[in-house]
Amino acid sequence: MDQIPSYVTSLPDGTDTGLYLAVDLGGTNLRVCSVDLHGDTTFSIEQLKAAIPPEIMVAKTFSELFSFIVTRLHAFLETHHAEYAHIDLVSESKSRLLLGFTFSFAFEQSALNRGSLMRWTKGFNIPDAIGQDICSVFQAEIDKRNIPVTVAALVNDTVGTLLARSYTSPGTTTTLLGAIFGTGTNGAYVERLENITKLNPSRDGIMVVNTEWGSFDNELMVLPNTPYDKAVDIESIHPGIQMFEKRISGMYLGEILRHAILSMVSSTSEISPESRLNQQFAIDSSFLSMAAAEDSPDFVVLRFQLSHHFGIDADLDTAEGVKVLALAIGKRAARLAGVAIAGVVLKSGRLEAPKKVDVESGVSRRHRGFWASLFESFRNFVGRWSGWLLRSKIEVHEDVIDIGVDGSLIEFYPGFEDTIRSTLRDIHAIGLAGERRIRIGIAKDGSGIGAALVARMAGIELERAL
Ligand code: ADP
Ligand code: MG
Repeated sequence: MDQIPSYVTSLPDGTDTGLYLAVDLGGTNLRVCSVDLHGDTTFSIEQLKAAIPPEIMVAKTFSELFSFIVTRLHAFLETHHAEYAHIDLVSESKSRLLLGFTFSFAFEQSALNRGSLMRWTKGFNIPDAIGQDICSVFQAEIDKRNIPVTVAALVNDTVGTLLARSYTSPGTTTTLLGAIFGTGTNGAYVERLENITKLNPSRDGIMVVNTEWGSFDNELMVLPNTPYDKAVDIESIHPGIQMFEKRISGMYLGEILRHAILSMVSSTSEISPESRLNQQFAIDSSFLSMAAAEDSPDFVVLRFQLSHHFGIDADLDTAEGVKVLALAIGKRAARLAGVAIAGVVLKSGRLEAPKKVDVESGVSRRHRGFWASLFESFRNFVGRWSGWLLRSKIEVHEDVIDIGVDGSLIEFYPGFEDTIRSTLRDIHAIGLAGERRIRIGIAKDGSGIGAALVARMAGIELERAL
Protein backbone atom coordinates (compact mmCIF):
# COMPACT_ATOMS: atom_id res chain seq x y z
CA MET A 1 0.00 0.00 0.00
CA ASP A 2 1.09 3.59 -0.54
CA GLN A 3 1.37 4.56 3.16
CA ILE A 4 1.51 8.31 2.48
CA PRO A 5 2.87 10.62 5.21
CA SER A 6 0.40 13.45 5.89
CA TYR A 7 2.76 15.91 7.65
CA VAL A 8 0.18 16.10 10.43
CA THR A 9 2.28 15.60 13.57
CA SER A 10 -0.13 16.24 16.40
CA LEU A 11 -3.70 15.40 17.25
CA PRO A 12 -6.28 17.90 18.44
CA ASP A 13 -7.55 17.36 21.98
CA GLY A 14 -10.69 19.47 21.76
CA THR A 15 -9.25 22.78 22.99
CA ASP A 16 -8.50 24.33 19.57
CA THR A 17 -10.36 27.55 18.64
CA GLY A 18 -10.99 29.84 15.63
CA LEU A 19 -12.89 30.23 12.35
CA TYR A 20 -11.65 28.22 9.37
CA LEU A 21 -12.89 27.21 5.94
CA ALA A 22 -12.99 23.72 4.58
CA VAL A 23 -13.67 22.45 1.10
CA ASP A 24 -14.27 18.74 0.70
CA LEU A 25 -14.17 17.15 -2.71
CA GLY A 26 -15.53 13.65 -2.20
CA GLY A 27 -16.36 11.14 -4.87
CA THR A 28 -19.96 12.27 -5.20
CA ASN A 29 -20.36 15.65 -3.55
CA LEU A 30 -18.60 18.93 -3.07
CA ARG A 31 -18.96 20.45 0.38
CA VAL A 32 -17.94 23.95 1.33
CA CYS A 33 -18.06 24.78 5.00
CA SER A 34 -16.90 27.16 7.66
CA VAL A 35 -16.09 25.72 11.02
CA ASP A 36 -16.02 27.74 14.23
CA LEU A 37 -14.05 25.73 16.78
CA HIS A 38 -15.25 26.54 20.29
CA GLY A 39 -12.36 24.91 22.14
CA ASP A 40 -14.50 22.62 24.29
CA THR A 41 -14.76 19.67 21.85
CA THR A 42 -17.73 21.39 20.21
CA PHE A 43 -17.96 23.49 17.06
CA SER A 44 -20.52 25.19 14.88
CA ILE A 45 -20.60 24.65 11.17
CA GLU A 46 -22.22 26.31 8.15
CA GLN A 47 -22.22 24.37 4.95
CA LEU A 48 -23.16 24.14 1.34
CA LYS A 49 -23.35 20.85 -0.52
CA ALA A 50 -23.45 20.40 -4.27
CA ALA A 51 -23.41 17.31 -6.46
CA ILE A 52 -20.35 17.15 -8.67
CA PRO A 53 -21.55 17.24 -12.28
CA PRO A 54 -20.31 14.23 -14.28
CA GLU A 55 -18.66 16.47 -16.88
CA ILE A 56 -16.56 18.10 -14.15
CA MET A 57 -15.26 14.66 -13.05
CA VAL A 58 -13.73 14.26 -16.48
CA ALA A 59 -13.01 17.96 -17.16
CA LYS A 60 -10.37 18.86 -19.75
CA THR A 61 -8.15 20.66 -17.26
CA PHE A 62 -7.48 20.69 -13.53
CA SER A 63 -8.23 24.46 -13.49
CA GLU A 64 -11.72 23.75 -14.79
CA LEU A 65 -12.41 21.57 -11.74
CA PHE A 66 -11.18 24.32 -9.40
CA SER A 67 -13.10 26.99 -11.27
CA PHE A 68 -16.26 24.98 -10.47
CA ILE A 69 -15.19 24.72 -6.81
CA VAL A 70 -14.35 28.43 -6.46
CA THR A 71 -17.72 29.43 -7.91
CA ARG A 72 -19.35 27.46 -5.11
CA LEU A 73 -16.90 28.80 -2.52
CA HIS A 74 -17.71 32.36 -3.54
CA ALA A 75 -21.46 31.74 -3.33
CA PHE A 76 -20.95 30.23 0.12
CA LEU A 77 -18.99 33.23 1.36
CA GLU A 78 -21.60 35.67 0.01
CA THR A 79 -24.28 33.83 1.99
CA HIS A 80 -22.50 33.11 5.24
CA HIS A 81 -19.45 35.37 5.52
CA ALA A 82 -20.11 38.27 3.17
CA GLU A 83 -17.24 40.25 4.72
CA TYR A 84 -14.85 37.72 3.16
CA ALA A 85 -16.48 37.51 -0.28
CA HIS A 86 -14.09 39.99 -1.93
CA ILE A 87 -10.65 41.25 -1.10
CA ASP A 88 -11.84 44.90 -1.02
CA LEU A 89 -14.30 44.11 1.75
CA VAL A 90 -11.68 42.86 4.16
CA SER A 91 -10.83 45.46 6.73
CA GLU A 92 -7.27 46.04 7.89
CA SER A 93 -7.89 44.22 11.13
CA LYS A 94 -9.18 41.09 9.47
CA SER A 95 -6.78 38.86 7.70
CA ARG A 96 -7.49 36.24 5.09
CA LEU A 97 -9.42 33.14 6.00
CA LEU A 98 -7.41 29.94 6.07
CA LEU A 99 -8.82 27.03 4.14
CA GLY A 100 -8.19 23.31 4.47
CA PHE A 101 -8.82 21.37 1.29
CA THR A 102 -9.98 17.80 1.71
CA PHE A 103 -9.18 15.90 -1.41
CA SER A 104 -10.36 12.31 -1.35
CA PHE A 105 -7.85 10.94 -3.83
CA ALA A 106 -4.35 9.53 -3.60
CA PHE A 107 -1.80 12.33 -3.56
CA GLU A 108 1.84 12.49 -2.61
CA GLN A 109 2.44 15.17 0.00
CA SER A 110 5.65 17.06 0.73
CA ALA A 111 4.32 19.64 3.21
CA LEU A 112 1.02 20.49 4.85
CA ASN A 113 0.13 22.68 1.87
CA ARG A 114 1.96 20.93 -0.95
CA GLY A 115 1.07 17.77 -2.77
CA SER A 116 0.40 16.32 -6.18
CA LEU A 117 -2.08 13.78 -7.41
CA MET A 118 -0.82 10.24 -7.95
CA ARG A 119 -3.85 8.80 -9.72
CA TRP A 120 -7.54 9.37 -10.13
CA THR A 121 -9.95 6.86 -8.63
CA LYS A 122 -13.72 6.57 -8.25
CA GLY A 123 -15.38 8.21 -11.27
CA PHE A 124 -12.74 10.88 -11.89
CA ASN A 125 -10.35 11.29 -14.78
CA ILE A 126 -8.67 14.62 -15.56
CA PRO A 127 -5.33 13.60 -17.05
CA ASP A 128 -3.58 17.00 -16.90
CA ALA A 129 -3.93 17.01 -13.09
CA ILE A 130 -1.39 14.26 -12.49
CA GLY A 131 1.78 15.71 -10.98
CA GLN A 132 0.50 19.31 -10.62
CA ASP A 133 0.65 21.00 -7.21
CA ILE A 134 -2.96 20.82 -6.04
CA CYS A 135 -2.94 23.83 -3.68
CA SER A 136 -1.30 26.10 -6.26
CA VAL A 137 -3.92 25.37 -8.89
CA PHE A 138 -6.68 25.93 -6.33
CA GLN A 139 -5.06 29.16 -5.04
CA ALA A 140 -4.67 30.50 -8.59
CA GLU A 141 -8.42 30.18 -9.20
CA ILE A 142 -9.18 31.88 -5.86
CA ASP A 143 -6.79 34.74 -6.65
CA LYS A 144 -8.32 35.23 -10.11
CA ARG A 145 -11.54 36.20 -8.36
CA ASN A 146 -9.97 38.30 -5.60
CA ILE A 147 -11.27 36.25 -2.73
CA PRO A 148 -9.31 36.75 0.54
CA VAL A 149 -8.77 33.09 1.24
CA THR A 150 -5.51 31.16 1.58
CA VAL A 151 -5.34 27.45 0.86
CA ALA A 152 -3.32 26.51 3.94
CA ALA A 153 -3.55 22.74 3.96
CA LEU A 154 -4.18 19.77 1.76
CA VAL A 155 -5.89 16.98 3.63
CA ASN A 156 -6.88 13.49 2.71
CA ASP A 157 -10.45 12.85 3.86
CA THR A 158 -9.40 9.98 6.12
CA VAL A 159 -6.83 12.20 7.84
CA GLY A 160 -9.58 14.80 8.33
CA THR A 161 -11.90 12.17 9.76
CA LEU A 162 -9.21 11.05 12.20
CA LEU A 163 -8.57 14.62 13.39
CA ALA A 164 -12.26 15.49 13.63
CA ARG A 165 -12.92 12.42 15.74
CA SER A 166 -9.91 13.20 17.91
CA TYR A 167 -11.24 16.74 18.52
CA THR A 168 -14.79 15.63 19.31
CA SER A 169 -14.23 12.26 20.99
CA PRO A 170 -15.21 12.12 24.63
CA GLY A 171 -12.52 12.29 27.29
CA THR A 172 -8.86 12.87 26.66
CA THR A 173 -8.40 9.78 24.52
CA THR A 174 -6.94 10.61 21.14
CA THR A 175 -8.03 8.61 18.14
CA LEU A 176 -6.00 5.84 16.45
CA LEU A 177 -7.71 5.53 13.09
CA GLY A 178 -9.98 7.48 10.78
CA ALA A 179 -11.75 5.34 8.21
CA ILE A 180 -14.10 6.12 5.33
CA PHE A 181 -16.76 3.88 3.90
CA GLY A 182 -18.48 6.11 1.34
CA THR A 183 -18.05 6.32 -2.42
CA GLY A 184 -14.61 4.82 -1.82
CA THR A 185 -12.84 3.36 1.19
CA ASN A 186 -9.59 4.33 2.90
CA GLY A 187 -8.04 4.77 6.32
CA ALA A 188 -5.46 6.97 8.06
CA TYR A 189 -3.83 6.16 11.39
CA VAL A 190 -1.31 7.42 13.90
CA GLU A 191 2.18 5.99 13.39
CA ARG A 192 5.38 6.57 15.33
CA LEU A 193 7.74 8.75 13.31
CA GLU A 194 10.62 6.33 13.75
CA ASN A 195 8.61 3.77 11.79
CA ILE A 196 8.12 6.08 8.79
CA THR A 197 11.50 5.25 7.30
CA LYS A 198 10.81 6.94 3.95
CA LEU A 199 11.03 10.30 5.76
CA ASN A 200 14.36 9.53 7.45
CA PRO A 201 12.94 10.72 10.75
CA SER A 202 15.43 12.35 13.07
CA ARG A 203 13.15 13.03 15.99
CA ASP A 204 10.59 11.32 18.16
CA GLY A 205 6.91 11.87 17.78
CA ILE A 206 4.00 10.78 15.68
CA MET A 207 2.69 11.39 12.19
CA VAL A 208 -0.62 10.52 10.64
CA VAL A 209 -0.19 8.13 7.72
CA ASN A 210 -2.73 7.76 4.92
CA THR A 211 -2.69 4.05 4.08
CA GLU A 212 -4.63 4.17 0.78
CA TRP A 213 -5.90 0.73 1.72
CA GLY A 214 -8.34 0.84 -1.20
CA SER A 215 -5.49 -0.49 -3.33
CA PHE A 216 -4.67 -3.36 -0.98
CA ASP A 217 -3.99 -6.62 -2.84
CA ASN A 218 -4.46 -5.38 -6.39
CA GLU A 219 -2.73 -8.67 -7.31
CA LEU A 220 -5.70 -10.57 -5.81
CA MET A 221 -3.50 -12.91 -3.82
CA VAL A 222 -5.96 -13.11 -0.94
CA LEU A 223 -9.09 -11.21 -1.94
CA PRO A 224 -12.16 -13.13 -3.10
CA ASN A 225 -12.83 -12.77 -6.82
CA THR A 226 -16.23 -13.78 -8.14
CA PRO A 227 -17.37 -13.51 -11.77
CA TYR A 228 -19.33 -10.40 -10.69
CA ASP A 229 -16.22 -8.78 -9.20
CA LYS A 230 -14.43 -9.46 -12.47
CA ALA A 231 -17.21 -7.88 -14.51
CA VAL A 232 -17.28 -4.80 -12.24
CA ASP A 233 -13.53 -4.38 -12.59
CA ILE A 234 -13.37 -4.83 -16.37
CA GLU A 235 -16.10 -2.24 -16.91
CA SER A 236 -14.61 0.28 -14.44
CA ILE A 237 -12.61 3.23 -15.72
CA HIS A 238 -9.54 2.01 -13.80
CA PRO A 239 -9.37 -1.77 -14.27
CA GLY A 240 -6.87 -3.64 -12.13
CA ILE A 241 -6.53 -1.08 -9.35
CA GLN A 242 -8.43 -0.31 -6.12
CA MET A 243 -9.36 -3.99 -5.91
CA PHE A 244 -10.02 -3.87 -2.14
CA GLU A 245 -12.18 -0.76 -2.60
CA LYS A 246 -14.10 -2.44 -5.43
CA ARG A 247 -15.30 -5.08 -2.95
CA ILE A 248 -16.20 -2.67 -0.16
CA SER A 249 -17.29 0.80 -1.16
CA GLY A 250 -20.55 2.49 -2.12
CA MET A 251 -19.55 3.13 -5.70
CA TYR A 252 -19.23 -0.57 -6.51
CA LEU A 253 -21.63 -2.57 -4.32
CA GLY A 254 -24.59 -1.77 -6.57
CA GLU A 255 -22.57 -2.84 -9.58
CA ILE A 256 -21.73 -6.20 -7.99
CA LEU A 257 -25.43 -6.71 -7.28
CA ARG A 258 -26.37 -5.67 -10.80
CA HIS A 259 -24.04 -8.22 -12.37
CA ALA A 260 -25.22 -10.91 -9.96
CA ILE A 261 -28.89 -10.23 -10.76
CA LEU A 262 -28.18 -10.18 -14.49
CA SER A 263 -26.53 -13.57 -14.30
CA MET A 264 -29.27 -14.90 -12.02
CA VAL A 265 -31.92 -14.17 -14.63
CA SER A 266 -29.88 -14.38 -17.82
CA SER A 267 -31.36 -17.74 -18.74
CA THR A 268 -34.87 -16.38 -18.60
CA SER A 269 -36.59 -13.50 -20.36
CA GLU A 270 -37.45 -11.65 -17.16
CA ILE A 271 -35.35 -8.62 -18.04
CA SER A 272 -36.15 -6.70 -21.15
CA PRO A 273 -33.26 -5.27 -23.15
CA GLU A 274 -34.64 -1.80 -22.38
CA SER A 275 -34.40 -2.29 -18.61
CA ARG A 276 -32.16 0.20 -16.85
CA LEU A 277 -30.56 -2.79 -15.20
CA ASN A 278 -28.43 -3.20 -18.31
CA GLN A 279 -26.79 0.17 -17.67
CA GLN A 280 -23.60 0.52 -15.66
CA PHE A 281 -24.17 2.04 -12.19
CA ALA A 282 -27.95 1.64 -12.51
CA ILE A 283 -28.11 0.32 -8.93
CA ASP A 284 -27.08 2.74 -6.21
CA SER A 285 -25.78 1.15 -3.03
CA SER A 286 -28.70 2.74 -1.16
CA PHE A 287 -30.76 0.14 -3.05
CA LEU A 288 -28.76 -2.57 -1.23
CA SER A 289 -29.57 -0.93 2.10
CA MET A 290 -33.24 -1.00 1.20
CA ALA A 291 -33.13 -4.62 -0.03
CA ALA A 292 -31.12 -5.81 2.97
CA ALA A 293 -33.62 -4.25 5.37
CA GLU A 294 -36.66 -5.54 3.46
CA ASP A 295 -39.13 -7.31 5.73
CA SER A 296 -42.48 -6.28 4.34
CA PRO A 297 -45.03 -9.04 3.69
CA ASP A 298 -44.40 -10.76 0.34
CA PHE A 299 -41.48 -8.40 -0.28
CA VAL A 300 -43.88 -5.76 -1.58
CA VAL A 301 -41.44 -2.88 -1.04
CA LEU A 302 -38.55 -4.55 -2.81
CA ARG A 303 -40.78 -5.79 -5.63
CA PHE A 304 -42.17 -2.28 -6.09
CA GLN A 305 -38.62 -0.86 -6.23
CA LEU A 306 -37.51 -3.49 -8.74
CA SER A 307 -40.45 -2.69 -10.93
CA HIS A 308 -40.21 1.08 -10.47
CA HIS A 309 -36.47 1.40 -11.13
CA PHE A 310 -35.76 -1.47 -13.49
CA GLY A 311 -39.06 -2.54 -15.01
CA ILE A 312 -38.64 -5.98 -13.47
CA ASP A 313 -41.84 -7.78 -12.57
CA ALA A 314 -40.30 -9.89 -9.81
CA ASP A 315 -42.04 -12.88 -8.29
CA LEU A 316 -41.51 -13.80 -4.64
CA ASP A 317 -38.52 -16.03 -5.34
CA THR A 318 -36.74 -13.44 -7.44
CA ALA A 319 -37.30 -10.74 -4.82
CA GLU A 320 -36.03 -13.03 -2.09
CA GLY A 321 -33.02 -13.85 -4.25
CA VAL A 322 -32.23 -10.15 -4.64
CA LYS A 323 -32.44 -9.68 -0.88
CA VAL A 324 -30.11 -12.63 -0.27
CA LEU A 325 -27.63 -11.18 -2.75
CA ALA A 326 -27.80 -7.71 -1.19
CA LEU A 327 -27.18 -9.22 2.25
CA ALA A 328 -24.24 -11.29 1.02
CA ILE A 329 -22.60 -8.39 -0.81
CA GLY A 330 -23.05 -6.05 2.17
CA LYS A 331 -21.79 -8.64 4.63
CA ARG A 332 -18.70 -9.40 2.59
CA ALA A 333 -18.00 -5.66 2.31
CA ALA A 334 -18.35 -5.14 6.06
CA ARG A 335 -16.16 -8.15 6.87
CA LEU A 336 -13.42 -6.87 4.58
CA ALA A 337 -13.80 -3.45 6.22
CA GLY A 338 -13.33 -5.19 9.57
CA VAL A 339 -10.12 -6.78 8.32
CA ALA A 340 -8.70 -3.36 7.41
CA ILE A 341 -9.54 -1.97 10.84
CA ALA A 342 -8.10 -5.05 12.53
CA GLY A 343 -4.86 -4.70 10.56
CA VAL A 344 -4.34 -1.17 11.88
CA VAL A 345 -5.29 -2.06 15.46
CA LEU A 346 -2.84 -4.97 15.49
CA LYS A 347 -0.06 -2.95 13.83
CA SER A 348 -0.46 -0.17 16.39
CA GLY A 349 0.51 -2.55 19.17
CA ARG A 350 -2.08 -0.93 21.40
CA LEU A 351 -3.66 -4.23 22.31
CA GLU A 352 -0.45 -5.62 23.77
CA ALA A 353 0.65 -2.34 25.35
CA PRO A 354 1.15 -2.84 29.07
CA LYS A 355 -1.74 -1.49 31.04
CA LYS A 356 -1.20 2.22 31.47
CA VAL A 357 -0.32 3.34 34.94
CA ASP A 358 -2.47 5.97 36.52
CA VAL A 359 -0.55 9.23 36.77
CA GLU A 360 -1.46 10.13 40.32
CA SER A 361 -1.85 6.85 42.07
CA GLY A 362 0.69 4.78 40.19
CA VAL A 363 -1.75 1.90 40.38
CA SER A 364 -2.47 -0.19 37.34
CA ARG A 365 -6.06 0.17 36.26
CA ARG A 366 -6.63 -3.50 36.24
CA HIS A 367 -5.97 -3.77 39.96
CA ARG A 368 -7.97 -0.79 40.94
CA GLY A 369 -10.92 -1.25 43.23
CA PHE A 370 -14.50 -0.21 43.06
CA TRP A 371 -14.02 3.33 44.44
CA ALA A 372 -11.22 4.13 42.07
CA SER A 373 -13.29 2.94 39.13
CA LEU A 374 -16.25 4.96 40.31
CA PHE A 375 -14.02 8.00 40.68
CA GLU A 376 -12.71 7.52 37.18
CA SER A 377 -16.21 7.12 35.73
CA PHE A 378 -17.14 10.37 37.43
CA ARG A 379 -14.09 12.13 36.01
CA ASN A 380 -15.00 10.85 32.57
CA PHE A 381 -18.50 12.16 33.02
CA VAL A 382 -17.31 15.57 34.11
CA GLY A 383 -14.74 15.62 31.33
CA ARG A 384 -17.31 14.87 28.71
CA TRP A 385 -19.67 17.61 29.73
CA SER A 386 -17.46 20.50 30.71
CA GLY A 387 -14.25 20.05 28.82
CA TRP A 388 -12.62 21.05 32.06
CA LEU A 389 -10.44 18.00 32.29
CA LEU A 390 -9.22 18.48 28.74
CA ARG A 391 -7.48 21.63 29.78
CA SER A 392 -6.22 20.34 33.06
CA LYS A 393 -3.11 18.23 33.03
CA ILE A 394 -4.73 15.25 34.66
CA GLU A 395 -4.69 12.35 32.26
CA VAL A 396 -7.63 10.01 32.31
CA HIS A 397 -6.11 6.77 31.13
CA GLU A 398 -8.40 4.51 29.29
CA ASP A 399 -7.92 1.20 27.63
CA VAL A 400 -10.13 2.42 24.83
CA ILE A 401 -8.86 2.23 21.26
CA ASP A 402 -10.82 4.97 19.55
CA ILE A 403 -11.75 4.85 15.85
CA GLY A 404 -13.57 7.50 13.85
CA VAL A 405 -15.58 6.51 10.79
CA ASP A 406 -17.44 8.43 8.12
CA GLY A 407 -19.33 7.70 4.91
CA SER A 408 -22.87 6.90 3.83
CA LEU A 409 -22.26 3.17 3.64
CA ILE A 410 -21.30 2.68 7.29
CA GLU A 411 -23.93 5.20 8.29
CA PHE A 412 -26.85 3.70 6.38
CA TYR A 413 -26.25 0.09 5.36
CA PRO A 414 -28.06 -1.95 8.03
CA GLY A 415 -25.71 -3.73 10.41
CA PHE A 416 -22.47 -2.62 8.72
CA GLU A 417 -20.83 -1.74 12.03
CA ASP A 418 -22.17 -4.88 13.76
CA THR A 419 -20.58 -7.02 11.08
CA ILE A 420 -17.30 -5.13 11.44
CA ARG A 421 -17.46 -5.87 15.16
CA SER A 422 -18.16 -9.57 14.72
CA THR A 423 -15.20 -9.71 12.32
CA LEU A 424 -12.95 -8.12 14.93
CA ARG A 425 -14.04 -10.80 17.40
CA ASP A 426 -13.41 -13.55 14.84
CA ILE A 427 -9.81 -12.43 14.33
CA HIS A 428 -7.92 -14.49 16.85
CA ALA A 429 -5.37 -11.86 17.86
CA ILE A 430 -8.20 -9.47 18.77
CA GLY A 431 -10.99 -11.70 20.06
CA LEU A 432 -13.78 -10.71 22.39
CA ALA A 433 -11.49 -8.98 24.89
CA GLY A 434 -9.84 -6.85 22.20
CA GLU A 435 -13.06 -6.03 20.41
CA ARG A 436 -14.54 -4.66 23.64
CA ARG A 437 -11.74 -2.12 23.86
CA ILE A 438 -12.36 -0.80 20.36
CA ARG A 439 -14.73 2.16 20.29
CA ILE A 440 -16.12 3.11 16.89
CA GLY A 441 -17.73 6.53 16.53
CA ILE A 442 -19.19 8.28 13.52
CA ALA A 443 -17.34 11.49 12.73
CA LYS A 444 -20.27 12.99 10.85
CA ASP A 445 -18.98 15.31 8.14
CA GLY A 446 -15.67 14.75 9.82
CA SER A 447 -13.60 15.57 6.80
CA GLY A 448 -14.82 19.19 6.88
CA ILE A 449 -14.01 19.70 10.54
CA GLY A 450 -10.77 17.80 10.11
CA ALA A 451 -9.70 20.05 7.24
CA ALA A 452 -10.42 23.10 9.41
CA LEU A 453 -8.26 21.59 12.15
CA VAL A 454 -5.36 21.00 9.75
CA ALA A 455 -5.73 24.55 8.37
CA ARG A 456 -5.40 25.77 11.95
CA MET A 457 -2.31 23.64 12.46
CA ALA A 458 -0.81 25.03 9.23
CA GLY A 459 -1.62 28.59 10.35
CA ILE A 460 0.22 28.07 13.62
CA GLU A 461 3.24 26.65 11.81
CA LEU A 462 3.23 29.61 9.39
CA GLU A 463 3.16 32.09 12.27
CA ARG A 464 6.00 30.27 13.97
CA ALA A 465 8.08 30.41 10.80
CA LEU A 466 7.59 34.19 10.41
P1 ADP B 1 -18.37 10.78 -0.46
O1 ADP B 1 -17.77 9.43 -0.52
O2 ADP B 1 -18.49 11.42 -1.80
O3 ADP B 1 -17.73 11.66 0.53
P2 ADP B 1 -20.70 9.68 0.95
O4 ADP B 1 -19.96 9.33 2.18
O5 ADP B 1 -22.05 10.29 1.12
O6 ADP B 1 -19.93 10.64 -0.03
O7 ADP B 1 -20.85 8.33 0.14
C1 ADP B 1 -21.57 8.28 -1.06
C2 ADP B 1 -21.74 6.83 -1.42
O8 ADP B 1 -22.58 6.21 -0.45
C3 ADP B 1 -22.36 6.60 -2.77
O9 ADP B 1 -21.64 5.56 -3.41
C4 ADP B 1 -23.76 6.15 -2.46
O10 ADP B 1 -24.19 5.17 -3.38
C5 ADP B 1 -23.62 5.52 -1.11
N1 ADP B 1 -24.86 5.64 -0.33
C6 ADP B 1 -25.66 6.72 -0.21
N2 ADP B 1 -26.73 6.45 0.56
C7 ADP B 1 -26.61 5.14 0.94
C8 ADP B 1 -27.41 4.25 1.72
N3 ADP B 1 -28.56 4.62 2.25
N4 ADP B 1 -26.96 2.98 1.87
C9 ADP B 1 -25.82 2.57 1.32
N5 ADP B 1 -25.02 3.36 0.57
C10 ADP B 1 -25.41 4.63 0.37
MG1 MG C 1 -16.52 11.67 2.13
